[in-house]
Amino acid sequence: MPWFRNHYVCTSCDGHWLAEHAEAMEADCPHCRAYGVAPYRSDDWTCVIEPLGKGFVVLECTRVNAHGPDYKRRKRFPTREAAQEFIKSRAA
Ligand SMILES: [Zn+2]
Repeated sequence: MPWFRNHYVCTSCDGHWLAEHAEAMEADCPHCRAYGVAPYRSDDWTCVIEPLGKGFVVLECTRVNAHGPDYKRRKRFPTREAAQEFIKSRAA
């Protein structure tokens, strides 16, 4: 299931903030309460790479509960590059 880290800049107060959501959604400014600020950037965190032993493991967000995303281990790779290739091939 998709998971994103969204980056926001409020044009009303120049406030910056980050928030994680299941989509690249608009949000209200936590500083001045401006309504419906669109993210200027969204990082796709559906799949993330973590070091594990001598290699790397790809984690995929399988569901989202009240505490946030729940990641499950998908596959191990000897290098970070191989893990990135795996994620790219899934997105294609
Ligand atoms: Zn603001």
